[in-house]
Amino acid sequence: MRIDAGAALKTPGTEHEFSFSRPWRTIDFAGESIEAAGPVTVKGTYTARSGNVFVRGSLGAVVRLACGRCLRAYDQRISVTFDEEYYPGPENGDRDGYPFEGSLIDLKEMVEHNIVMHLPAKRLCREDCPGLCPDCGQDFSQGPCGCRRDKQENDGFCSGLEKLKALLEDDEEV
Ligand SMILES: [Zn+2]
Ligand SMILES: [Zn+2]
Repeated sequence: MRIDAGAALKTPGTEHEFSFSRPWRTIDFAGESIEAAGPVTVKGTYTARSGNVFVRGSLGAVVRLACGRCLRAYDQRISVTFDEEYYPGPENGDRDGYPFEGSLIDLKEMVEHNIVMHLPAKRLCREDCPGLCPDCGQDFSQGPCGCRRDKQENDGFCSGLEKLKALLEDDEEV
């Protein structure tokens, strides 16, 4: 995911375009391995100013995540716009942006950051995913489970209300 900014560095202030699509496999982030479900596409412009290179544009990727309700894997589209500064290396932890060596701008780290920063807070295979039965683990998108039906026939709805009441009472005590 590299851009050769040599020409841009020689003509500061001039905007140059770039676009590419690259396969990737995983990003390791915070103990989690984020899996790709397709290539990442990146496009935008870069401009040199005072020896730094400013890269702005948009990226799109599809990642494979696990649904928080039914636990099944699903594909999540991530779209991000970015506006980043690259400075001549070595890396300097005190400043924002990313270092570059020579005239080569490697976008990999920035792209990975932007993907993980834009993972959804709620991971759902679909907005109305009904999830799993807390008792037997049946996936409700495949239909209702026996244990739930039994409970509803016996004491289901009432016991649900009792539980809710108990929860509310617990909250009041805190
Ligand atoms: Zn789901
Ligand atoms: Zn069940």
